[in-house]
Amino acid sequence: MMIRLRLTLLYSGILIATLFVFGSAVYGVLYRTLRLQADNQLTDTLNSIEPEIRSTMNKQGEIDYTPPLSDRDSFQAAGVFVQFWLPEYEYPILLSPNFGHYYTSLDHRSLNADHEIFTTVWIHDTPMRVATRPLEIDGQIVGHLQAAVSLQTIDDATTKLSVILLVGGGLAVLSSFLLGNWLASRALRPISRITETAQAIVAADDLNLRVPDDGPQDELGSLVTTINQMLERIGKLFHTQRRFTADISHELRTPLTAIQGHVELIERFGHDAGSIAAIKAEVNRMIALVGDLLLLAQADTGRYTLNHGSVELSTLMLETYNRAQVLNQRGVKLVLGEVDHLVVEGDAERLKQLLSNLIVNAFKYTEPDGTVTLTLEHVDRWAEIKVADTGIGIPAEHLPHIFTRFYRVDEARARSAGGSGLGLSIALWIAEAHHGTLTVESEVGKGTTFTLRLPLNHQGENK
Ligand code: ADP
Repeated sequence: MMIRLRLTLLYSGILIATLFVFGSAVYGVLYRTLRLQADNQLTDTLNSIEPEIRSTMNKQGEIDYTPPLSDRDSFQAAGVFVQFWLPEYEYPILLSPNFGHYYTSLDHRSLNADHEIFTTVWIHDTPMRVATRPLEIDGQIVGHLQAAVSLQTIDDATTKLSVILLVGGGLAVLSSFLLGNWLASRALRPISRITETAQAIVAADDLNLRVPDDGPQDELGSLVTTINQMLERIGKLFHTQRRFTADISHELRTPLTAIQGHVELIERFGHDAGSIAAIKAEVNRMIALVGDLLLLAQADTGRYTLNHGSVELSTLMLETYNRAQVLNQRGVKLVLGEVDHLVVEGDAERLKQLLSNLIVNAFKYTEPDGTVTLTLEHVDRWAEIKVADTGIGIPAEHLPHIFTRFYRVDEARARSAGGSGLGLSIALWIAEAHHGTLTVESEVGKGTTFTLRLPLNHQGENK
């Protein structure tokens, strides 16, 4: 069953139950109150007549008829019928004048009652409330007083009330069903739109589709906004993923094509040291690329765990400096500037990898007569490492993108320099995994400075 119908039925059901309870209570209270009023009226009448009848009786229960009781006021009460019956009599011994010639008992079955009782009987199609009170003299029942009032007015009133309650309740339920159905379908319309959009995305394979967001910003409105934001994000991720896959294929194809060329040369002309060296270089490049890809894939899925420990940054800097000297084949000057003694919490190997990525880049994009300077300073609560070069610099429009995977400012130059385009994205990931930051400042023709900031641990601050 659809949610809309379920909601409408549920609300209508609750309304029916509420109306039923409320209507029954109103009906019951009114009926009981009116009935009680009739009973009280009967009791009052019997109370006033009883002493008068007693005063006319002798000890044997015989009645002295003078003066005639029927002339007394209590017998004349409008709308109240009174009879007094002696045992074994077929006719009432006394009856109020409003009876005319009606001599039948108001309720003959109650005439043997030994205590006061109230009954409801039908006389000539009229509902009557009858009170029967036995009259005792010296413990002997000498007769029965009966008083009655018509319940017709009460019945009419309660019947009208029940008709009003039924018709009014029925109309209320019907209108609430129709209104509820309309409101529910209006309220749930955004969900239909979401479903339609989702189906359209599946059918057209188009992540650019969005759910129309022109409704009020209620719960469903914010759901629509969230879904659209989600689609936006999924679309971007999907796009990045596609580009990433295309980039990887491209990156792998280049060395493979080179290897294929060299293998063909060897096949044709036999062994050649140059070709073997070139193949080795391409294979090393592919191994490095696959290693970088694996690291990023593990980082993306959160499966890469850092080996945490206390890292003495000055030692780490020195080690990186010594290793970098070996890599420095183009003769760029590498200078170790100010190095403070600082300790951070982190993974020494990954931090070395980060620094070496930055230094290798600096070597690649700096002319042989240029300089690369490494410094380590204590700045506020941070250990700040700078890798500054006097190289070609990065144009301002490229700066926001250089940490993007496979992004290169100068495709040909970067490739010929042996870069995979992943170095800076890995460096940034390592910095962020250590709760640090990696920023860049650069001026074309003057040089580039990468600044790594790592949060100091307690020891580091008390250097
Ligand atoms: P690559 O392997 O191509 O060097 P990276 O992610 O390490 O990839 O760097 C991305 C791009 O940023 C490089 O292609 C280069 O254009 C630019 N870049 C990085 N470091 C420097 C630098 N020190 N000087 C100038 N350009 C740089």
